[in-house]
Amino acid sequence: MANRGRPRSRSRGRSVSKSRSANKAKTSSPPVKPETIRKSRSLSASRKKVSTDSAFKSHDDPDTPIRASLRLQEKIRKQLEEEVTMVRNRLKTNGNSSTTPPAKQEVSSQHDVIGFGGAVGGAALSVLLPALVYAIVIACDKRNGCVITRLPSFSVDLKDYFDMKVFGVVLSWYLLQVLLALLPVGPQVMGQPLKGGKRLLYRCNGFLALLISVLIFAVALHQGAPMDYIHKHWLQFVTASIVYSFVLAVGLYIHALYVSDSELAPEATGSLFNDFFMGRELNPRVGSLDLKFMCELRPGLIGWMLVDWSLCASQYQQSGAVTPALALVTLFQTIYVFDALKHESSILTTMDIITEGFGFMLAFGDLAWVPALYTLQAHFIYNFPELAVSNVYGLVAIGIVKAAGYIIFRGANSQKDVFRNNPNDSSVAHLATIPTSAGKKLLCAGYWGICRRPNYLGDILMATAWSLTCGTTHLLPYFYPIYFFILLVHRQIRDEAYCKQKYGAAWDSYCKKVPYRIIPYVF
Ligand code: NDP
Repeated sequence: MANRGRPRSRSRGRSVSKSRSANKAKTSSPPVKPETIRKSRSLSASRKKVSTDSAFKSHDDPDTPIRASLRLQEKIRKQLEEEVTMVRNRLKTNGNSSTTPPAKQEVSSQHDVIGFGGAVGGAALSVLLPALVYAIVIACDKRNGCVITRLPSFSVDLKDYFDMKVFGVVLSWYLLQVLLALLPVGPQVMGQPLKGGKRLLYRCNGFLALLISVLIFAVALHQGAPMDYIHKHWLQFVTASIVYSFVLAVGLYIHALYVSDSELAPEATGSLFNDFFMGRELNPRVGSLDLKFMCELRPGLIGWMLVDWSLCASQYQQSGAVTPALALVTLFQTIYVFDALKHESSILTTMDIITEGFGFMLAFGDLAWVPALYTLQAHFIYNFPELAVSNVYGLVAIGIVKAAGYIIFRGANSQKDVFRNNPNDSSVAHLATIPTSAGKKLLCAGYWGICRRPNYLGDILMATAWSLTCGTTHLLPYFYPIYFFILLVHRQIRDEAYCKQKYGAAWDSYCKKVPYRIIPYVF
């Protein structure tokens, strides 16, 4: 799903000394693997044999047998000492290595508990999430009034859900985004190191893709394309995006069956439903096209913005004006999407790219969930303009919430992104950090000293501002910030467990130093 992130900050002084970090490194070393011990032992045995043989040769010395025997004993003792030191160093290196993957069983069982419920959860969510999307989209149509106090009435005519032309439009949209992603223009940025230390290159031309998409929209508008087409066929667009996300997830799962273990996601367990949902492969690619990276910010996110624009254009075509609330929410979400694509490379340090496999969860999230539900506020205002906020003071207050959210969100994401790519960058070099046994450091000042997920805080504030434009008479337009809060709390808990596994005692120090998760002094 969408991510974004860049910024500045003040130092609170470097805190953790070298010796303390060395101690931490020792205490947080994972247990030594049995095969490492076995290998060390056999190595030691063979070395012993060689040294004993050469020592016996020294019997030919002109020295007396006693002196020769003493020399031999001394030589063996020294050699054994060297070996012991060597083995100790090796065990220490293995223990501290950031590339040593945690035992898969250990990871998967832990993530079953705090993740999405393993195979059962994956299977259930693969059905329930699309059902939820339908329920909300149908409940918020003009006929049902966007209320939660009664069950929405829905059509049983399949034609209201499936339309081949709409399927064609959506497919053409995806293909356009694939073609734009393949354009050999734009910077190539190195991703974070993978399990084996390898780093992938990513072509970051998302902003260009956005501009070209906007241009195509403008041409369609200029040519008099019916701007209410998307709104009129909304349910069919939703169906098409859900079906395509299933098709993509199945394809990804099959593709992942043929890749090596090193390419699997940390949460892949080998169980069909878990891996289908969570994603089995970490970075599936077709040629130079990185599928997860492409889907994260382009078809769904740009699509979401253009759906908003089509609603504004349609309202204008019908009434000669756009209601202030619709214009404002469209502006807010346009800023969000432009910002995301402008800082496309910063998603390379986010959880979606670093740790999440590409499966149904992300495919559905990117292709269906985002365009279907993130446009909810705009659809609501389009359907019920009389309920939206029209008071100037109200709109200004909403603008302030949005601006505050944006500053925190952008600042925090960029700060971490700059820090992960170049900790010596002048904008972050002065910030206090905590060293970890894995080699990386953790920021504990600046935005990342306010709470442990300042970027989530900013995102939640922005989401709240979007919904506030819909007024306060209906709860469903607030679905996005409510769900988003739950999603981010769950995400924070999941990632925190992962960070604890990666950074051990250093993560505990960070939690102690920065006690609040997302909302300072509250949570
Ligand atoms: P983050 O960008 O916060 O990435 C988490 C990773 O950051 C951790 O695994 C860790 O990785 C690193 N990290 C954590 N704490 C620190 C620290 N103190 N110092 C340095 N590095 C740290 O998480 P997400 O990928 O979840 O979110 C990215 C953005 O995307 C957020 O703004 C979020 O709100 C947004 N988002 C939006 C969604 C939407 O639907 N609109 C959905 C999900 C996210 P490591 O140490 O290995 O580098």
